Parts: sequence; structure tokens; C-alpha cells
Amino acid sequence: MRYLSLLALLTFGALADNHESVVAQKADAIESQVIQWRHHFHQYPELSNREVKTAAYIEKYLRELGLDVTTGVAMTGVVGVLDSGKPGPVVALRADMDGLPVLEDNDLPYRSRERGEFNGNDVPVMHACGHDTHMAMLMGAASILVDMKDQLRGQVKFIFQPAEEGSPEGERGGAEVMVEEGVLKNPDVDAIFGLHISADTDVGKVRWREGGIMAAVDPFKIVVKGKQAHGAYPWLSVDPVTTSAQIIMALQTIVSRELKLIDDAAVITVGAIHGGNRSNIIPMEVEMVGTIRTLNEQAREHIYEALPRKVKGIADSMRATAEVTLPLDYNYPITYNDPALMKKMLSTLNRTAGEENVINSKPVTGAEDFSFFQEEVPGVYLWVGGKPLDVKPEDAPAHHTPEFYVDDSGMKLGVKLLTNLTLDYMQQH
Ligand SMILES: [Zn+2]
Ligand SMILES: [Zn+2]
Repeated sequence: MRYLSLLALLTFGALADNHESVVAQKADAIESQVIQWRHHFHQYPELSNREVKTAAYIEKYLRELGLDVTTGVAMTGVVGVLDSGKPGPVVALRADMDGLPVLEDNDLPYRSRERGEFNGNDVPVMHACGHDTHMAMLMGAASILVDMKDQLRGQVKFIFQPAEEGSPEGERGGAEVMVEEGVLKNPDVDAIFGLHISADTDVGKVRWREGGIMAAVDPFKIVVKGKQAHGAYPWLSVDPVTTSAQIIMALQTIVSRELKLIDDAAVITVGAIHGGNRSNIIPMEVEMVGTIRTLNEQAREHIYEALPRKVKGIADSMRATAEVTLPLDYNYPITYNDPALMKKMLSTLNRTAGEENVINSKPVTGAEDFSFFQEEVPGVYLWVGGKPLDVKPEDAPAHHTPEFYVDDSGMKLGVKLLTNLTLDYMQQH
């Protein structure tokens, strides 16, 4: 009895070790292929909701792997399902597909010369956020997981998502629409993993955070209405300009005086203000628009209550009226790493990257529409390093700029992470 259980323990230990070293070997073997895929995607980027050739390229490969493939999800999205044939959980892995209207500025042999149309304008197109690497890494992980099918339980859903950067005017798209179209159903997803390449994180390192890792985005509009008068006779007016000035300053005190800033950062920005048309007229109306960024739900709810309160209180005190639209058009939830799932998967990060390469990260106030998946099912979103080691973080060109650069060598860790997260999740559930 004792002998048997010891043997079982040893066998299990050997298997567990085995899958990581097997994954590492397979990631080595497929690395040059992953790099080729990435160079192809990089050279031929397409804009949000226009990822037609990109989708066809992915579809072809997923079919070659023998996956059950669905296309046209949220316009150009591609979803492949790998069924192990054994009962078990459904793990989803997600990569985004879109490039940006940016003119690439470098001498790379695979540099983009593509152009596209965005909101009626002819624009250059570049993978200036690294989504080319995301697709290549996920294809690499799909290849390895198909190879290791006999070690899987349950199913893996490979989600290639369009329009992460936002749809063109008059269109919807991205993760939100994929969710609406049922991408997390049939088979129903139990957990989802995604990652973003990072231009200022060293190659070989992975950054994680429990809870809010990227912010919610809530755009707003405020219209302040007063009474028009000659600029020389302000007592005859109700002045929406001075009222707006007070409102803008008061909004800043929501973050600085009302939120518990030691928990998480938050931002309220007024990005545009319009009112009046000449120096000697006090106008009837001022309009402003802005954005709110929050990293936890309490802060988000607090601002939803506080912003209209401040606006109304100040407008009342100035005898003006004000209308608040919150949220204005589309908003994104918080990219929120489910604490229980994050805790559980941390050991996968440590074993895959090596403990010294796993960084408990600060959050960022940018946003990511992966958050729509995480609203439906527990999910973990990570950053994987793409910065060459000899470049200082402060010298690394930022995402969305013409000089943006991430190194091919960063992708191997991403491939291994996606694969091991899937295998470990299946082993634990
Ligand atoms: Zn981006
Ligand atoms: Zn991005």
C-alpha cells in the first residue's frame, strides 16, 4: 500500500515535471516558426474590424491543426476549439489582431508599408501595439497543445479577437461584441487567459497583478447652460464659462479628497472644452468632455455618484444648470485579475519564467477590452517582456508610436506561459 502510493506520487511528480520540460522543448522547436508568423503579421497589418487577411491566415492554420473553427465572430474574429475528448474544464486563450493608423519608422526587413482607411481617411497601418506577437504566440501555443492533446482534459478555446483598439466610427466590435455573440458559450468557458507584450519590460520577464491591472474607462460629457449677455455686462448673464472653470477644478477634488488613494490610483481628465465665439460675449452654453479611469469597483461607483453631485452643486450655486452624460458612448470595465485564480496560477508563472523573472506589477491607467471577458468568467491578464536587455526602460519607444519595437526573443516565454497555464489549470480542475 505504502509502496504503491509512493510510486503513484513519484509518477505524478515525474509527469508534472515532465510537462514543463516538454513544453519548453516544444517552444524551442517552434520558436523560428512563431517568429515567421509574427513577421508576416507585422508586415501586413490591418486596422480594427478590417482584419480580413489576418483572419484568413489564422483560420488556415487552425484548420491545419484539426481544430473546430468558427469565423466571422464580431466581424473578423476567429475561434478554434481543441477537444481532448476527455471530460474537464474549458480554458480560453485570447489574442487580439488589430494594427493601428501609425507610420512605422524603422529599418526592419519586415516593416509595414501597408495603408488602410480609417474614419474616411487614407492612413498608414502598423502593428504599433504588438498584437502581431500576440497572434503568433497563440498560434504557437495552439500547435503545442494539439501536440500534447493526450495530456489534456476538457477543451481549449483559442480566441483571435478583432478591434481591441476600438472600432471605426459608427461600428461596434472587439471583446464586447464577441461576448454578445456567445464566444464564451458552447462549450462554456471556465477560465480565460490573455497577455500583452510590453515594450518596456525586459525579455524573459512576466508582470502580473491581483485585482485591477488595467483601468476602467468611462467617458463623460457635461453641458453647462447659462444666460447669454454682453461681455461688458456680466450681471445680466448667468455665466457658463466661470461655472465651468469651477466645475473642472472641483472634479479634481473627487480623486484627491474623496477616494481612498492608498488602495488604487484614479484619474479624472477633462480633455476638451468648448463655449462661446468671441471676446465680448458671455455665451449661453459650455460643453466639455473627459475620461475617468479607475482600478476598483468602489472607486468607479464613487465617481459615478460624485461627478454629477459636484457638477449640480456648483451649477446651482452659480444659478446655472448642467447636464451630465455618464458614461458617454462606449465604456470599458476594469481589467480585473480574479484574485483566487491569480493566486492559483502564480506558481505556473514562477515555474515557467523562473521566480526572479516574475514581477508583481503596478497597475496602469490605460485600458484593455479583455475586461469584457473577465466580467463573464474568471480571467488573468499578464504582461510579457519584449524589451531587449541592452535598452533602458526609459529609452524604449512607447506603444502606439512610429518607433515602437518589441523583440522576437520575447515571444518564447509567452508561448510557454499560455501553454502551461492551460495544462496547469486542467490539472487543478
Ligand atoms: Zn494598443
Ligand atoms: Zn494592445
